[in-house]
Amino acid sequence: MSFYVTTPIYYVNAAPHLGHAYTTIGADILARHMRQRGEDVFFLTGTDEHGEPVVQAAEREGITPRELGDANAPRFRELMDRAGVSNDFFIRTTDPEHEARVQEILQRVNDNGHVYPGTYEGWYCPRCADFKTDTELGPDNTCPIHGIPLDWQQEENYFFRLSTFQEPLEQLYAERPDFVLPQARFNEALAFIRGGLADVSLSRAKITWGVPVPWDPSQVFYVWFDALLNYVTALTYARPGEDLIARYWPPSFQLIGKDILKFHAVYWPALLMAAGYDVPRHLFVHGFLLMQGEKMSKSLGNVLDPLAVIERFGADALRYYCFRDVSFGQDGSVSTADFETRYETELANELGNLASRTLAMVERYRGGVVPDAGVDPEPAADFDGLVGLVRDRLDRADLTAALDEIWQRVRRLNRYVEERAPWQLARSDDRADELDLTLRSLAEGLRVVTVLLYPYIPGTAERLLQALGQPGLELEGARFGARGGGARVAGIPPLFPKP
Ligand SMILES: [Zn+2]
Repeated sequence: MSFYVTTPIYYVNAAPHLGHAYTTIGADILARHMRQRGEDVFFLTGTDEHGEPVVQAAEREGITPRELGDANAPRFRELMDRAGVSNDFFIRTTDPEHEARVQEILQRVNDNGHVYPGTYEGWYCPRCADFKTDTELGPDNTCPIHGIPLDWQQEENYFFRLSTFQEPLEQLYAERPDFVLPQARFNEALAFIRGGLADVSLSRAKITWGVPVPWDPSQVFYVWFDALLNYVTALTYARPGEDLIARYWPPSFQLIGKDILKFHAVYWPALLMAAGYDVPRHLFVHGFLLMQGEKMSKSLGNVLDPLAVIERFGADALRYYCFRDVSFGQDGSVSTADFETRYETELANELGNLASRTLAMVERYRGGVVPDAGVDPEPAADFDGLVGLVRDRLDRADLTAALDEIWQRVRRLNRYVEERAPWQLARSDDRADELDLTLRSLAEGLRVVTVLLYPYIPGTAERLLQALGQPGLELEGARFGARGGGARVAGIPPLFPKP
């Protein structure tokens, strides 16, 4: 099976921040998990470099929009690299291959009769690069997202006949109750559709920074249509000489933030229908990580800057925290102080100490070789069905619930160490069998949780599995007792040291 996962492409008009890391790491966790299942995965992220916000940001800096893109796109790539993100391709909408393919596809949409010239007027937010409908306006004609007063603008441009897709979209939502997840976002998108769809501008006359309309080069395509099509165009040139559309289309999961729901849940499927493509299987809409501000850590201040966190605590700590505290799909508060508490109590103590104790006891009591004994049925019972539970949750992109299932077993193993107290068993020779069983079960449990944690904390998991002498990452191997004893372990430095 193929699994195609995407993030939104990020505007290059600002530096990368936690929100970008959040979505991209979320997609990375799904991609890594699916690779563990043996799926044929393609994972796409990139940058959105056209449109008015980019032009305005470039003007402020006294450079051209292209120069701004060239300066900022590498900063997004750097954040992805440092966050351990395993994307297969990084698209920039200024790639000539993307631009050519956008023209081709939208020419086809025009040829199919979905486009007409007209006059548009309305309240326009230059920072959203979007006209606001009456229901989307803030008080006194402001942008509800940016809080700025909007301009009443009028221009001649080309329209996409979105209104003619009202019925097909309602039918799509009726047939596919998991088209948009979570449920609340599905309801929100459907309500928007049922509220009546007006045709939307497909092009802009006032700006020149964009992809020219092939049948009228005095206009450029409205940045949203250019940007949305990246999910298609990337597959046509990500691997030179190969067209990956047949292999990966439609996307399995498209992750987006709740602020761009309308574009992805309404415009996007309509555009795909107009161009003759299948719509994605699932859109997953996540909430925002809100900074609390008043709770401040000594080393990080009060801003959870992803690069600063990675610098001091490592990428895996950031990856873990983003999906542990706040349920993926909901809004929630994060703070540097909460981050440090989770780092210390969960990563360093619960997982880090479990690992170092287990490895040290196998070394001390059994010469560094995991006993070739059976597994203890008691902890084994608490791992029954765990792989299926994690799979089910991740099939719905519920990253937080899956992580919680795994973490409950990390805690179970810590209780197991206390219950069995191997250091006491080691004192009497006639309890050698019990000690064998305990050490083997501990090492096996640790291996299982580590394989399952791999998508969240890949660097740490690989080091730990190596130290356990069991480097296999396949999800099938994550059943308790799936691997035999006899592996040689190695000591490792603390997994989550004090920074
Ligand atoms: Zn706005």
